Amino acid sequence: MDSNEENPPSQEISEGLAKIKTSGSVFYNPVQEFNRDLSIIVLNTFAKQLPQSETPLNPGVKHENGISILEALSATGLRSIRYAKEVKGVKEIIANDISSKAVEDIRRNVCDNGVNDLVVPSHDDATMLMYKCRKERRFDVIDLDPYGCPSIFLDAAVQTIKEGGLLLVTATDMAVLAGNSPETCYSKYGAISLRMKACHEMALRILLQCIESHANRYGRYIVPLLSLSADFYIRVFVRVFTSAKTCKQTLSKLSMVYHCTGCGSFQLQPLGTMRINEKNRQMKYGLPTKPPGGSCEHCNHPYHLGGPIWNAPIHSSDFLNNLQTEVSENFATFKRIQGVLSVISEELIDVPLYYTLEQLSGTLHVETPSMVAVRSAILNSGYRVSYTHMNKTSIKTDAPGRLLWDIMRTWESQHPVNQKRLVENSPGTNILAKKIEFGVSFEYHSEASPESKKLGFLRFQQNPMPNWGPGTRATAMVGDNKLEKRKKNQGKRKREQSDDNENSEDNKNC
Ligand SMILES: [Zn+2]
Repeated sequence: MDSNEENPPSQEISEGLAKIKTSGSVFYNPVQEFNRDLSIIVLNTFAKQLPQSETPLNPGVKHENGISILEALSATGLRSIRYAKEVKGVKEIIANDISSKAVEDIRRNVCDNGVNDLVVPSHDDATMLMYKCRKERRFDVIDLDPYGCPSIFLDAAVQTIKEGGLLLVTATDMAVLAGNSPETCYSKYGAISLRMKACHEMALRILLQCIESHANRYGRYIVPLLSLSADFYIRVFVRVFTSAKTCKQTLSKLSMVYHCTGCGSFQLQPLGTMRINEKNRQMKYGLPTKPPGGSCEHCNHPYHLGGPIWNAPIHSSDFLNNLQTEVSENFATFKRIQGVLSVISEELIDVPLYYTLEQLSGTLHVETPSMVAVRSAILNSGYRVSYTHMNKTSIKTDAPGRLLWDIMRTWESQHPVNQKRLVENSPGTNILAKKIEFGVSFEYHSEASPESKKLGFLRFQQNPMPNWGPGTRATAMVGDNKLEKRKKNQGKRKREQSDDNENSEDNKNC
């Protein structure tokens, strides 16, 4: 390794209302500007709804009754400085990092930006700092934006967040979460990831169940406000509340996932059941009795078992409505934020996971129908359908798998498949051998084209620039084993990049 790599040059960065300098060893990722812009909008929306926010709130001014924020892994301090300058109603922001070099940078940048009265630099191990604060000094907001997996910080974070406080958590180890390494995923997140088309939503739901399980240990539970998959990372925004009673519902908010290795169909198996007892109006908790049978009902191929995943809503509709009113054109990534939030607000909130158009047509080796045709067919049968922000050919629907395959069988009857492609016992052959049960109509349905598309929003952004990947962990944060980590990261970056590149086309690799 040459000396340039050991001591990369310092850089000056201007983003939002902040201007910072890095010493070069601290990692700055320009692609995360979208992430930081969106976080500022979320925090402004969150701060506004707190009871103490009746007086007019301004950014860049200390509010004694305002919110306290901990940025546990701050690196350059950029995020904290932006929060100080752009979030209304802040009392205090702790910008912490374990590296003394990073904290030097943070100190200098805080001074240069004139936010000394709002941002307090802190040099500590993130978990130790949180454990020290969990009794006397809880925070309204904790932001965890680590390199890789956040799970080692969760035990401390769920204890150190105030009642109803907001936890912001990023994960960048997408290869692990998207099914390339289910064993590693289990050891890190307590859930098995699967290589399925809906792997990005699966990743979000694995992270949410992981945070919930940490919270449950302390009689606490989460309420997701917004869950986002973007570029090379996922990020969730959840509130944390305390109630031993509500913790009993967790089992019913989790599911195992049966995923067909042949055709990609999936079934969810909830871990618990809940119903209200008619006589005494008490909640009755139970265990489900029927796991799905041994092989796929559509193509006869075997299932893989994944999960548990979070099976309850991953966004809050009310919060999304409030959020959209906070989006302003002042943000550099305004168009992308507007587009993503509009697609998210159209997602079916009560339907986990999704199919993709290529998955359906590819399994049958048939010409790919248009999204409008398939969406119309689902709507014409009386079921609901939406996109997800994670995939531009996603089909999220409450229609049974049987109907989806009937739609594809009907399509095939009009666009016959080349018989040579129908190998014996292949998923496609087995599916096409089944009779069509549902009457299918491809006639155009007025809701087949979503509002966000009609309005011409930037709904699905491609990889924005050449250096868009997660980068290496800041050398200042890695300490002794940085060479080893850097080496390890190189292959990983390539893998993740190829995952996401494929995702931007048709999600083949997941
Ligand atoms: Zn199948």
